[in-house]
Amino acid sequence: MQDLAHFIDGARVAGTSGRFGDVFDPATGQATKRVPLASATEVAAAIASAVRAFPAWAATPPVRRARVMFRFKELIEKHADDIARLVTAEHGKVLSDAMGSLTRGLEVVEFACGMPHLLKGEFAENVGTEIDSWSLRQPIGICAGITPFNFPVMVPLWMFPIAVTAGNCFILKPSEKVPSAALRLAELAFEAGLPPGVLNVVNGDAEAVDALLGVPEIGAVSFVGSTPVAEHVWRTGTAAGKRVQALGGAKNHLLVMPDADMDLAADALMGAAYGSAGERCMAVSVAVAVGAAGDALIRRLAPKARALRVGPGTDGEAEMGPLVTAAHKARVEGYIAAGVGEGAELVVDGRGLVLQGFEDGFFTGATLFDRVRPDMSIYRDEIFGPVLSVVRAKDFDEGLKLINDHPFGNGAAVFTRDGDAARAFTANVAAGMVGVNVPIPVPMAFMSFGGWKRSLFGDHHIHGMEGVRFYTRLKTVTERWPASIRAGADYIMPTMK
Ligand code: NAD
Repeated sequence: MQDLAHFIDGARVAGTSGRFGDVFDPATGQATKRVPLASATEVAAAIASAVRAFPAWAATPPVRRARVMFRFKELIEKHADDIARLVTAEHGKVLSDAMGSLTRGLEVVEFACGMPHLLKGEFAENVGTEIDSWSLRQPIGICAGITPFNFPVMVPLWMFPIAVTAGNCFILKPSEKVPSAALRLAELAFEAGLPPGVLNVVNGDAEAVDALLGVPEIGAVSFVGSTPVAEHVWRTGTAAGKRVQALGGAKNHLLVMPDADMDLAADALMGAAYGSAGERCMAVSVAVAVGAAGDALIRRLAPKARALRVGPGTDGEAEMGPLVTAAHKARVEGYIAAGVGEGAELVVDGRGLVLQGFEDGFFTGATLFDRVRPDMSIYRDEIFGPVLSVVRAKDFDEGLKLINDHPFGNGAAVFTRDGDAARAFTANVAAGMVGVNVPIPVPMAFMSFGGWKRSLFGDHHIHGMEGVRFYTRLKTVTERWPASIRAGADYIMPTMK
């Protein structure tokens, strides 16, 4: 088994805690690598390196920092196939999907290339007699990012390209289930010209996260992962005076009106529910079928779900790969059993799938439930697997209320040909990212990504201008060069004359 490392001060550094985690190939079920799980000592080494690097990096003109991102973009493109293979080898998703997620991450690097423009503030001449005022954005200092297993490349790239190009140093703590791609990204960023210490990668689990949250040097923390951990990171980080954006779990609904193009809606549901084996925070796990849409959808979805090609991510024919770990497969299949127990109609059962040559892989087939009710655990909880629940609603209002009553509010979509319904949906749905005839409305890098309710803790969404605001502090300067004004001390609240 290969031993992985951390990436600190511009080099791979072996773990010293003596604790390791196994990294699996989900298609074969075999442990292939060991990842070091950092203690507070290794976290401290990364912080010390970032603290050393910060003054010179913050003083580097933004245009030069951006040029590093241009080179980083070229290097990611050059090594895209290898990076996508690392994602598939540890996460399991099919290669084409891994490449798609890499592209979405690369778009954030492209956005960060515009940082000199994005950092520009406002200027007002003569706000008072011979007084000018302007605002500027300055880096926070040392920022940390804690990322989930399901997007080993894209989610880290949501964070550090913006943070470092804005002048910060960054410590990335990737998911211990999929650490290799983040290490490779750090090496490429270093090759592109990031000075040692500007980007460090510390591998680990909750111990490393709690160490990061406990140190005063870190001013801002970006977290993406499950809701309980997001809430913990947000509460702990903000209590320690840090800026925190913590993106959590989801239960994304797609409302299908009876007037929708049913073939289009069914295809959209297939991709959004089963792509990446449902291990996406923007996966659609609930179809809210209004009126006659229910039967029309089930008729179309059932044969498609049965025919879905499941296989190892490296198989070019496969449409869906395995789940990430044996424990996660057991959890997903436990929910399927619970759904049956709670009285939902199991139309397609993905349990018990065994693939020849991959008998130990963590595969669960596409699963489809009909007549799911809001009190069932398969409706309430995020399953994060290839399980689609169809809930019947009598009309638009009932469907919308269902979505708005759910504790999660990441994404939501409506499929309809009716402009009024679409407009009422976008205006009134309680979710951060909304699609109209678009099943997975993931905002582009120059827009911002984030949910509402228990899908996001903190005030800022991620990337786009929200990212620039999150990783910078605003400063406003009021300036006078007084040659002529000698009026003596003034004891009233300053007003501009
Ligand atoms: P997770 O919460 O288990 O882990 C996320 C990160 O937190 C990892 O780096 C992990 O090491 C760390 N961590 C785990 N337990 C911890 C603890 N007790 N204390 C401190 N740190 C801890 O999430 P996951 O299983 O890796 O990822 C899947 C989850 O992420 C799903 O809920 C999914 O919806 C969510 N997600 C959300 C978004 C979004 O944008 N909202 C995007 C991707 C994934």
